[in-house]
Amino acid sequence: MRKNIVAGNWKMNKTFEQADELVSTLVEKLEETELKQNTLMILCPPYPYLEMSTDYSNDSYFMVGAQDVSEHEEGAFTGEVSAAMLESMDVEYCIVGHSERRQYFHESDQQVAAKVNQLLAHEIRPIVCCGEVLEEREANKQFDVVKRQICDGLFHLSAEQFASVVIAYEPVWAIGTGKTATPEQAQEMHAFIRSLIAEKYGKEVADETSILYGGSCKPGNAKELFANPDVDGGLIGGASLKADDFMAIATAF
Ligand code: PEP
Repeated sequence: MRKNIVAGNWKMNKTFEQADELVSTLVEKLEETELKQNTLMILCPPYPYLEMSTDYSNDSYFMVGAQDVSEHEEGAFTGEVSAAMLESMDVEYCIVGHSERRQYFHESDQQVAAKVNQLLAHEIRPIVCCGEVLEEREANKQFDVVKRQICDGLFHLSAEQFASVVIAYEPVWAIGTGKTATPEQAQEMHAFIRSLIAEKYGKEVADETSILYGGSCKPGNAKELFANPDVDGGLIGGASLKADDFMAIATAF
């Protein structure tokens, strides 16, 4: 079902003590301030903190997601973490195809597709990232790039499988740079993505898909971004590392 979602991508930040403090502070805040109905908070900490986070979440305050997963089922892949492992730790969401994975680890659309398959086989919902780099936007190629990422990464799925997918549009030039897409730019791309889904799976599936915006989203701009009809929340990096900022974003719907 289409939900408003605010997902925190902690990336490679925080020691265990700092992570524990952030999650416990968030739980205190969520006890004081309930999120609106149909609004979901997801925390995506580094792997070593997943269990601590699911313990705090108590199946009620927030859901827990991982930041990446192996494209392989199991075996001799030193350092990798499988979807089966995540499933066995009650992880319910997982980011796939983040621009940092694509840029620094050369992750391809085909690997994104394989990771999505692994996650779905283990009943974990993928949060699939897409978005253009600055040169692509300057060359007006952003729609071609996002279309390729969505088609090659996701459109092999059945409509039933696709219903578990969350999409995050993250213009790479806006990630961690302080430069946010304007609400108009975000809405334009989100509407485009929804139209691609409608073309492939029909309007009903498209209308039920949550499409998040990511890229320097913060308390000061979340409200105007989330006010757009096709923006169903955000994938939040830097601002998810501070409890007050993340709560302000989660209550900006
Ligand atoms: C991200 O990494 O997904 C992200 C959106 O980061 P930031 O909010 O820091 O731009």
